[in-house]
Amino acid sequence: MRCGFCRNEAIYRRSYEGVALCKTCFLEDIEEKIRRTISKFDMLRFDDHIAVAVSGGKDSLTLLRILRKVEKRFPRATLTAVTVDEGINGYRTEAVKLARESCRELGVNHLIVSFRELFGQTLDEIVSSKKELSPCSYCGVLRRRAIHIAAKEAKANKIATAHNLDDEVQTILLNIFHGDANRIARVEPVLVDPAGRFLQRIKPLCEIPEKEVALYAYLSRVKFQTCPCPYLGTALRNDIREMLNRIEERHPGTKFTIFRSVERLRDSLKASVAAVELRDCLRCGEPTTGTLCEVCKMLDRAVECPEI
Ligand code: SF4
Ligand code: ZN
Repeated sequence: MRCGFCRNEAIYRRSYEGVALCKTCFLEDIEEKIRRTISKFDMLRFDDHIAVAVSGGKDSLTLLRILRKVEKRFPRATLTAVTVDEGINGYRTEAVKLARESCRELGVNHLIVSFRELFGQTLDEIVSSKKELSPCSYCGVLRRRAIHIAAKEAKANKIATAHNLDDEVQTILLNIFHGDANRIARVEPVLVDPAGRFLQRIKPLCEIPEKEVALYAYLSRVKFQTCPCPYLGTALRNDIREMLNRIEERHPGTKFTIFRSVERLRDSLKASVAAVELRDCLRCGEPTTGTLCEVCKMLDRAVECPEI
């Protein structure tokens, strides 16, 4: 099998484009695709201070590495890596260590925050005392808040997360499975709050399939955490991931087709959803549509959220 770009020995066949690539062309192509995504969705400005959410997994460490390359071309831009320690016994410690090592190697400032210090409990403690929701539901909402708090502390003006194409398509289908069609329009490469109360969030890997992010990390010798989170098996997302991978195997390009369909429909989907008015959460002061924000409802007790 020969590389479709340079005719050297290929190491990977990209079924959805019907092309084979050698190691060098594959790595260059992924970086070029990410640069194109950044430019297409107008994700970065020359003087941005970007807080990169780094969990220690393959996606976030790949994102950090590529953004570091992009940032070097913009002397006035700054990166800060933000890692959240949710408090998952036997899992998060290794990831935090790998994140720390990568940041040191790349020369990126690193901020670590934990659920324990921000919310008074680890995820393990929350999960063992509250059974209403799945561990990932608690984790997702609290981690988003933790990243936001850390990004503000770092004085960043935007947050970059490592959601890849698979994550985005899974979230679209999850919203359908949950009957929450209004949220589909909010699965976006760039999330902006017109009122400016939330930092802008960007997803530079949103057009790269998970398999290719993993291959990029492997070929670039990124040291990332490989053991899965112990709560992973409990999530509906896991079943959707397996279903999508089976379909993609037999019908290459399906994930892109779903992603592009939502891209085309996004404006009309947004126009059909009434704008919601935000007010301050009575407990922590963060923006919410009700009287209490999701975080305070989840913790279900008087939470002293830090001032941000
Ligand atoms: Fe959190 Fe669920 Fe991911 Fe584990 S699998 S880190 S609980 S979101
Ligand atoms: Zn609150």
